[in-house]
Amino acid sequence: MIAAAAGPLPGAAFVVGALTFVLTWLVASALLGLGNTVGYHRLLTHRSFATPRPVRWLLTLFGALHSGSPLTWVALHRQHHTRSDADGDPHSPREGFWHAHCGWLIGTKNPVLCVLFALSGFGQQAAVLMHDLRRLAGNNPPVWLEITKDLNDDPVLRLLDTPLVIPALFLVQLGLAVAIGGGWGVLWLWLLHVAMTNGSWAVNSVGHTTAFGHESHDNRDTSRNVPWLAWITFGEGWHNNHHRYPRSAWHALGEGPDPSWWLLRAGMATGLVREVWLPKAQRDVLPEALRAGRRKNRA
Ligand SMILES: [Zn+2]
Ligand SMILES: [Zn+2]
Repeated sequence: MIAAAAGPLPGAAFVVGALTFVLTWLVASALLGLGNTVGYHRLLTHRSFATPRPVRWLLTLFGALHSGSPLTWVALHRQHHTRSDADGDPHSPREGFWHAHCGWLIGTKNPVLCVLFALSGFGQQAAVLMHDLRRLAGNNPPVWLEITKDLNDDPVLRLLDTPLVIPALFLVQLGLAVAIGGGWGVLWLWLLHVAMTNGSWAVNSVGHTTAFGHESHDNRDTSRNVPWLAWITFGEGWHNNHHRYPRSAWHALGEGPDPSWWLLRAGMATGLVREVWLPKAQRDVLPEALRAGRRKNRA
């Protein structure tokens, strides 16, 4: 009675606001993160499983909110697998840890510049904008389409690869953040992009630095399995396993947490995920009907 007469408790609005901030951020992190790991990486790049087109487009859209064009991402990542730690690898710690993390995106090995870029949050969006403007000026022909021939007929992927579409998508995010939360909304979005970009980049830097984690397979590259990295990258931290079996939908292969694989298991249960590729030794975890046919284990 007394509380009702006095109105809401002081600070209640702050607590509700803070809880909303944190909970929506966690949900958005999961959706955007899995868009990259399950969508861009395991589905589009490595064709680890099959799913209906609307699901593929939804996963791709979540990835596109922070990872740039799916076709350029796929091409760069396939190149990374083809040339791992050799000439032509877009991001190898042979050029320095910070260059592998994000310096390769802006053409620098200077650790200070790399750290500033990593903390900028929206730096990747600026890099995408520059990439698109150079393309519009005729200085950046879409050579990546040579590497993504199996995906080029997908209208949604082509739309997202059209110059200025990804920057427009970012402007929509920014506009919504301001409209809904003002300054707090921009902080929410900035923290989201800092976490998403650095998580993804850490697979290339931490996941290829021998000071971290361990090696389960002799791949003749610097790829590592890093359990703590797997927790914050939805399972992508099992990078040494991944380089051994690029097409495997399950990166952990029984070694530890792999949230992207957990999502795929849920998808299998609902029938939305099928033709799942796994290494021979792990195939008995799947019912026969869900297994991928015999195809080459390609990057
Ligand atoms: Zn790698
Ligand atoms: Zn890969």
